[in-house]
Amino acid sequence: MNVLVLGAGQLARMMALAVKPLNINIRAFDVSSGNVVDPLTSNIIFNDLAQGIEFADFITAEFEHIDHQTLATCQASGKLRPASQAIKVGGDRRLEKSLLTQCAVANAQHKIIETKADFDQALNQLSFPLILKSALAGYDGKGQWRLKDKTTAEEVWLDIKAFFDGGEQGVKHAVIAEQMVPFDREVSLVGVRDSQGNTLVYPLTQNHHSKGVLSVSIATHVNEILQTQAQQVFDSIAKELDYVGVLAIEFFQVGEQLLVNEIAPRVHNSGHWTQQGADTCQFENHLRAVCDLPLGSTELIRPTAMINILGEDSVPNEILNVASTKLHWYGKSKRAGRKMGHINVSGKSEAQLASRLMLLANLLPEAAFDELKPYIAGYQNSLSS
Ligand code: ATP
Ligand code: MG
Repeated sequence: MNVLVLGAGQLARMMALAVKPLNINIRAFDVSSGNVVDPLTSNIIFNDLAQGIEFADFITAEFEHIDHQTLATCQASGKLRPASQAIKVGGDRRLEKSLLTQCAVANAQHKIIETKADFDQALNQLSFPLILKSALAGYDGKGQWRLKDKTTAEEVWLDIKAFFDGGEQGVKHAVIAEQMVPFDREVSLVGVRDSQGNTLVYPLTQNHHSKGVLSVSIATHVNEILQTQAQQVFDSIAKELDYVGVLAIEFFQVGEQLLVNEIAPRVHNSGHWTQQGADTCQFENHLRAVCDLPLGSTELIRPTAMINILGEDSVPNEILNVASTKLHWYGKSKRAGRKMGHINVSGKSEAQLASRLMLLANLLPEAAFDELKPYIAGYQNSLSS
């Protein structure tokens, strides 16, 4: 079976590694060069999309910011899974919010802003603090603003205006103003749906973000109330999109309620722990769904965590002395803040996992993993209290 993945980053790479034993061959379409490449070596296989489509039995995507012409071409081939509409929803917060409304799924109070009048109205109707997010992909690390109160509103508006003007021409830009949610935790649910409508979900994962980027994910035995809530949200969104493949949903947990933050129509960073903590990893399950193979069990086999390696191309080898620790590099060149790789670690019990995480936190350089130690210490404390 041959599968073309739109996008040639680490997610395509991990899909290729996971499904080689199933005799599924992955080729990746590098959207920036227009070449179809081997996702492991980056060697060029074809130099246009058409040959990639011809090669493929199925086509899927590893990210959602794909130009609509490419999506339309792939959709027209009848091979694209999930469908282009589902991929577009993940790439435009306006579509995402209207999907949540349509599915009656709880999320943060928000307003869509295209003009100064919308901006003023949003500031009057929502309560502070606010977070404003570009509806489409941000660029150069821009695209999110935080507003504590009205004092800096004018300044922020001018910045947003400049952002609209500097963005792609001929595209209707917008930002979504959202009330900041005073969450207790951030969690995410990764699940998979096949073309017959069968779904399976992994246990909810607890996520810690540092400077807006995922830093640690921990998957252990879950709170059944939250898991059921999350699964219902997953089922309704996946059904509405007639989704095929792995879909991730990020939530804010407030008490025992989950509010959706965003959805990702693809395998997700917060699901990398499944490579060693679940019966079948997210990458294999995504391709099983896409290729019409039976889905694999999503059961947790042992408490497992993932630590992201951001902006570093080496870590001390000693971390591999910590039992059950596995290192995954993506083969990318070093750039500040870039997702370069991740570390997975498991334990027989949650306490054992926590103590292994602390061993890792002590070995990893504090400058590059700045919030890791306090976060793990807090996690350890939460287990003993
Ligand atoms: P990523 O692609 O890494 O998931 P993103 O750029 O798409 O991130 P969001 O997930 O929307 O952006 O936001 C990043 C982080 O900012 C969230 O994980 C959360 O920590 C914080 N955040 C975003 N929206 C809110 C909100 N409404 N209330 C509180 N915190 C928020
Ligand atoms: Mg997010």
